[in-house]
Amino acid sequence: MDYLNIKNFPNCQINTSMHKLNWYFYKVWAPMTALTFYLLATQPINWWVVFLGWFVLGPLATGVGLHRLLAHRSFSTHCYVEKTLAYLATVSAYSPILFWVAQHQYHHRHSDTNKDPTSPVHHGFWYSFLYWRFLKDNLSKADFMNFCSKRIIRDKRLMWLNNNFTKIVWAHIIVLAIISPSLLLCLYLLPVLIESVRINLLNSFSHVSRMPFSYRNYDTNDKSYNNLILGYLSLGFGWHNNHHYNPAKNIVHDRWWELDIEGYIGYLLSKIKPKDIV
Ligand SMILES: [Zn+2]
Ligand SMILES: [Zn+2]
Repeated sequence: MDYLNIKNFPNCQINTSMHKLNWYFYKVWAPMTALTFYLLATQPINWWVVFLGWFVLGPLATGVGLHRLLAHRSFSTHCYVEKTLAYLATVSAYSPILFWVAQHQYHHRHSDTNKDPTSPVHHGFWYSFLYWRFLKDNLSKADFMNFCSKRIIRDKRLMWLNNNFTKIVWAHIIVLAIISPSLLLCLYLLPVLIESVRINLLNSFSHVSRMPFSYRNYDTNDKSYNNLILGYLSLGFGWHNNHHYNPAKNIVHDRWWELDIEGYIGYLLSKIKPKDIV
């Protein structure tokens, strides 16, 4: 099967009226990416700063904060730690937190069916990797209401972050640009781009059986796989079959080689006195 050719996937929703791109593409993703490539051509790069920015916005904010804490409640921590992670997750610019959580819950419910937009088996590589994310109706209003987190909706601070997503991202860009365009590129724009590619690749290829070094620990109803390469590159998210077997479990370290750095960070954060949201 050629996952790169959309013609091999006649049932893919790309052939419906969902061609229109969403506000996120125009207001955030397209201008941010254009700015990134402009600064790449004009500014020096310090890869240590890029790594630091990626670690904070990626594994820490998106992996631990958005995925394990806000989407799955796989651990609890002090509410100020939660708000800090939620702020960083907003700054990481993938999408507003409420929408990210709803889409992720939707993925868990419909994994490896034609309804799962991140499945390259059903939709092809480019749709599942990139295109679905920018479609205007990539999650229907009814599905959004079904899968969005009522807990986030009840929390006014989390909702403030959610509702001011675009302003927060651009305020962050403007402040860093005033300090230094090189800092903006290395500490923020490049890490955001790298993290976005990482999450999209993990979502797409953690459910493909023919990836080298893939295996399953659990006979789940979906086609989730653990993968040695993705597991280490993702600092834990790539032990995906373990995660789908028990999404609410924080540390998905089930065999001695399955190091779950994100899970260990969540465990340490859970030691900070848990406190319910005000
Ligand atoms: Zn999955
Ligand atoms: Zn998950």
